[in-house]
Amino acid sequence: MRGRVLVVVDERVEGEALSAVSVVEEVYGLPLRVERSDLADHIAASTNRRRGQVDALQLLKRTESMVPERGFLLILVLSDIFVDGFNFCFGLAYRRSAVVSTFRLRHPDPRMFVERVRKEIAHELGHLLGLRHCPRRECVMYFSNSIEDTDEKGVAPCDRCRTLILG
Ligand SMILES: [Zn+2]
Ligand SMILES: [Zn+2]
Repeated sequence: MRGRVLVVVDERVEGEALSAVSVVEEVYGLPLRVERSDLADHIAASTNRRRGQVDALQLLKRTESMVPERGFLLILVLSDIFVDGFNFCFGLAYRRSAVVSTFRLRHPDPRMFVERVRKEIAHELGHLLGLRHCPRRECVMYFSNSIEDTDEKGVAPCDRCRTLILG
């Protein structure tokens, strides 16, 4: 399923990150709409107090009603997020929505920061479109264990992954 992408950017997210969302159109050719929103209540309710991090899956479940009828929801937050079994995650995709956190993507050079956000958005959207992790280091679907992995990979899916989406 193709459809459009609704990108909801939490108010606390750095302004620079807004320029990264165009990657949706550039890499996948999907039309997108961007909304700046206050997600503080959802974030607070999804926060694991003991860990001091936001439970990414909980956040996606809580915001499921925002998913467009025919399309995908992509949420951008500043808070550090995690998923069970991992110390942290850069993003998570679940059903037709995904979340990306800018928390661990910061860089003194704003261009590097935006590039990291672009890669993580393109990665999670790849999952929403049905792609799994790819063993090719240059592919955006390569699993990032660390920020170095993110910096090393490209912003687009490799030819093989691209074929899988386009059919
Ligand atoms: Zn992934
Ligand atoms: Zn690939």
